[in-house]
Amino acid sequence: MDILAHGLWATLIFKNAPPTTRTVGIALSLAPDLIAFVPNAVYSVITNNYKMWFKVSEDTVENMANRVPPWVYRIYDVTHSIPLWIIGFSIAWAIMGSVPWAAFGWLLHIIVDIPTHSRKFFPTPFLWPLSSYKFDGYNWEAKWYMIANYVVLLAFYLRLHILR
Ligand SMILES: [Zn+2]
Repeated sequence: MDILAHGLWATLIFKNAPPTTRTVGIALSLAPDLIAFVPNAVYSVITNNYKMWFKVSEDTVENMANRVPPWVYRIYDVTHSIPLWIIGFSIAWAIMGSVPWAAFGWLLHIIVDIPTHSRKFFPTPFLWPLSSYKFDGYNWEAKWYMIANYVVLLAFYLRLHILR
C-alpha cells in the first residue's frame, strides 16, 4: 500500500488511543517504508537519479523494481519481517514493563502490505529470515485498487467527522 494510505489507516485505528500511543503508533505504521526508502531517495537526489520515481506506473513497476539498489531490498527484508517484529515487540515489552500498543502500527503495516504487493514490485518478505516465501498479492499501484482504497478511507473519515 502507498505510504499516505498506511498513515491514514493507522490514524483511524489509533483514533481512541492515548495521545502518545497514537502519535508513536502512526509513526511506526510509516517506519517500515521510510526506513527502507528514504536513504535511497536521498541517494537518488545526490546522484541525480530521482526522476525515475516520477515514472512509476502499473506497466513500469517491474522495470523500476530491477533498478532499485540491492541494499534497499535488504533493509526492506528487515523492516517487513514479522519474526523480527515479534523480537522487537518482546524487547520493547520487557523494557517498558507494559504492552507497547504503538508497536502494532508497525505490524499493521506489514500485514496490510502482504495482499497489496505483487511479486513484481516489493513483495512482502513477512517471514524473513525464516523463509523467503512471498505472497503474490494485488499491485497497490493499480488504479482500481487506489480508487477503492481511498473511497473506503474517505467513507470512514466522513463517518468519523461528519456523521457522528
Ligand atoms: Zn511497506
